[in-house]
Amino acid sequence: MVEELIQKAAVEDDNAIEELCQIADTDPGRLTPHLGSLLDRDVLWPAKLYRSADADVVRRVIERIDGGRTPERLNHLLVILAHTAHPLAESALRRWSTQPPAGADELHINALSYAREGGWTVGPDGSRRDLCGSTAYQLVMRNATRRADSPICPWCASLLWAALEVDTAEPAVGAALTHTGWSGRLLIETCHLCACYTTLYSQVTPAGAATWWTGNTRPSYLGSTTPEDPPAVAPALGPARPSPYRASAWDRGGSTLGGWPDWIQDAEHADCPGCGQLMDYVGLIGGADFDDYGEGAYYLHLRQPCGFAAVNYQQS
Ligand SMILES: [Zn+2]
Ligand SMILES: [Zn+2]
Repeated sequence: MVEELIQKAAVEDDNAIEELCQIADTDPGRLTPHLGSLLDRDVLWPAKLYRSADADVVRRVIERIDGGRTPERLNHLLVILAHTAHPLAESALRRWSTQPPAGADELHINALSYAREGGWTVGPDGSRRDLCGSTAYQLVMRNATRRADSPICPWCASLLWAALEVDTAEPAVGAALTHTGWSGRLLIETCHLCACYTTLYSQVTPAGAATWWTGNTRPSYLGSTTPEDPPAVAPALGPARPSPYRASAWDRGGSTLGGWPDWIQDAEHADCPGCGQLMDYVGLIGGADFDDYGEGAYYLHLRQPCGFAAVNYQQS
């Protein structure tokens, strides 16, 4: 059945590609024996199809890049390697970061920076760090009672929105946030309007405090905005996801704590203002979950050692 889907995907059958993506999100190991065939047919996109690639397929992709025969496909091939997160892929990306492969002059970023597309990064000490979690829970929307004392956005005067309020004392929350190292309460507040224009940071403490970061820089293109009430919902912990890849930025019920982001655009893991390193991914809240016409998704990030949280937004 998978072979059939691959044959159809090779002639750009969108339904077949969608079905393959669903397998990659639900049970990626099912694709592992077929990825060589996918590569033979030059189906390189979406790169997440390759997340469970074995050493043979990873090696073939590396050889193809080193061979330099298809420099115009370099971007796709690097994103594939990032998604595999395979040790061979990691060492190749490290090597190309100082010895760029053919076609690299057309890239916007260094080869090693592709790692973030696959949800990992290499720190200043050279060690690898996974930005995403292996455990995920659905976030279900509860009606929120608006706090009269809610802080307001210094840019647009809207009441700030409690996009997430959880406590790792709850084992499920602790599991979903393990990769972040966070322990305690976590309140992530943001402006639902201004976060659509730039990454908004706040300083957070394990006591559950959240403070607008005074270093947030208002984009010059952000004119005067009329204040608007935030979504009247508070995301609460729902059932466990059967795989860490089941968040959806599009579908109702797609909001998720932990696991991996479903990016609408390229991966956009936020930089921590404290240390300059990429922040850990915490979860996403899809517009479809709180608004009938909702689109786009808010992505939540955390950097425990520095006490920073961030929210950014993507739409199609
Ligand atoms: Zn605002
Ligand atoms: Zn930091």
